Amino acid sequence: MYAGRNEIYPRRGRGKERGVTREKALSEADVLIRGPLADALAEMDECGVPYHIAEVRRPLLTQCLYALQGRFRVQEELEWACKAAGIRPPGKGVVTWTLKSKHLAGRAVDIVPVRDGTLLWDYTGNRAAYGAIAAVMIKHGFAWGGDWETPDYPHYEM
Ligand SMILES: [Zn+2]
Repeated sequence: MYAGRNEIYPRRGRGKERGVTREKALSEADVLIRGPLADALAEMDECGVPYHIAEVRRPLLTQCLYALQGRFRVQEELEWACKAAGIRPPGKGVVTWTLKSKHLAGRAVDIVPVRDGTLLWDYTGNRAAYGAIAAVMIKHGFAWGGDWETPDYPHYEM
């Protein structure tokens, strides 16, 4: 059981909307980021910032399948592989540029803002909501993917 305002969608969510509980997020997180992550989540709770933790630790197989997304010629086969691996169904676009993601070591976390029960995956139009989360995460020592040359707005790492 977790406390606070992390909103998860275990029943109606599918794929990346499934998310992880705060408890699971902290248990998956590398010891290096566990303390700062716990502090940041607590601060967001105190400030009333609604958020959804999409992913923390990512198996290498998952990272490989993400890397194939948008690059694999036969969509049906990639869909089959993702389903077999129990990860979210692939879209059409490229979603990652690396096989060395900090998610592999549990040193990254994807956090998405929430409004009225809806996950705000688009940064455009939701800059303030992303900014509220980013401000807290940066304060606790995380680097924000939104500051990257190729931005990854829900992504934070240490
Ligand atoms: Zn990420």
